[in-house]
Amino acid sequence: MILAQPKRESAESVDFNGSFKVVTWGCQMNVEDSEQMELMLRATGLTEAPSLDSADVILLNTCSVRKKPEDKAFSLLGELREMKDQRPDVVIGVCGCMAQLRADEIRRRAPHVDFVIGTAQVALVPALVLEAKQARNFQKRLELPERKGAIVASVPERYVGRAGKLKSFVPIQYGCDKFCTFCIVPTTRGRERSRPTMDILREITELASRGTKEVTLLGQTVNSYGKNMLEGKVPFAKLLRMIAAVPGIERIRYTSPYPRDFTDDLLAAHRNVPQVMEHCHLPLQSGDDEVLKRMKRLYTVNSFSEIYNRLRSIPGMSITTDIIIGFPGETDDQFMNTMKVVETLRFDSAFMFAYSQRPGTPAANWDEQVPTDVKKKRLNELIALQNEITLRINTEQAGSVFEVLVEGVSEKDPSLLKGHTRHNKVILFQGSGELTGEVVHVESIEGHPWGFSGRLANN
Ligand code: SF4
Repeated sequence: MILAQPKRESAESVDFNGSFKVVTWGCQMNVEDSEQMELMLRATGLTEAPSLDSADVILLNTCSVRKKPEDKAFSLLGELREMKDQRPDVVIGVCGCMAQLRADEIRRRAPHVDFVIGTAQVALVPALVLEAKQARNFQKRLELPERKGAIVASVPERYVGRAGKLKSFVPIQYGCDKFCTFCIVPTTRGRERSRPTMDILREITELASRGTKEVTLLGQTVNSYGKNMLEGKVPFAKLLRMIAAVPGIERIRYTSPYPRDFTDDLLAAHRNVPQVMEHCHLPLQSGDDEVLKRMKRLYTVNSFSEIYNRLRSIPGMSITTDIIIGFPGETDDQFMNTMKVVETLRFDSAFMFAYSQRPGTPAANWDEQVPTDVKKKRLNELIALQNEITLRINTEQAGSVFEVLVEGVSEKDPSLLKGHTRHNKVILFQGSGELTGEVVHVESIEGHPWGFSGRLANN
């Protein structure tokens, strides 16, 4: 079902045959874009291929946040050249952040690609596939919407996901206005745009009627939602309350908030709205004020800690984070400051990365790049510390009874069921598959680095 009809140009009148495969790298926003592309292709008559080798349409949805996923995408494009030689009818499209940034380079290095589309042009996929099938002319569509205050026109219309999907991602905001000096996202995804509130509510109502119980709201700085709306401003916390009133929605999560944009009302929503889960992914990036300043993160360790502590005071809250080590100019002492902050704040878990030079960002051109071996060593130290903290916290929580949304059989161990606690930790336990989709109580019996093993409590 389509929530609002995306513009699909001439593709609508043509019946597609064959199959597609979408390969995705990167963040939840990319995962969500890929799902939209898949839904559009299905609507034109294509089916999903079991493997790349048998697909008639191949889309690479790329990521530019670090160098590694870009290298992987170019490497796969290299492999696809041979396939295109043998099966010239295969359509190959490149989408996502790398497509937005490096379209000309993709064309040069991979002339077998049929089209390259940017992050705001997802709705054009069916039309471009059709054009590629018919005309075989290379196409490039990279327009990013300007933010002119009236945001409504610049947000893509969307398909509603498949029925029976217990957990769904819902983008509520696109782009970013923060311009951190290490980050390419404001260039690849454009200026911050908030989705109209009524569109979001309509989509979530539709999702709930098709079985979704948990929604994760997506945005680059998701809690800035509504800031740039000209009329009828709806602050993020108010949006959470409106979503909580949608019948059938039992759990609301969001990612990723920007620390400085936390409001009292958002903290109150965590305390007072039962549907708003006790988990927050709060990106620290560095535990040193000088580094934060050079990253242009707009907060200090103190102001971050203040928000952190207020969140921590909410019963049952877990807090996770992102940390970059080896940012240009980071000294041993500055790295040790990050270690100290991690030790003091005790995040439940963290995504930790070595800084990756992103062409087109200010920090990429700075002279004082940290040598790779130093970055590796610091990263290993940080990971070891955080793993120890994660295990300690999870072990301390053994014996607690958690409210768990049962997601089905565990992929790791099919004899067990898998679910997430309210504070977003994985828990595996024995039980009947009929519990899938139910909210049950599970006692954690052992803490692990990945979550808990548990047993059904008296439900
Ligand atoms: S807040 Fe900073 S790190 Fe996050 S998307 Fe925006 S520029 Fe990138």
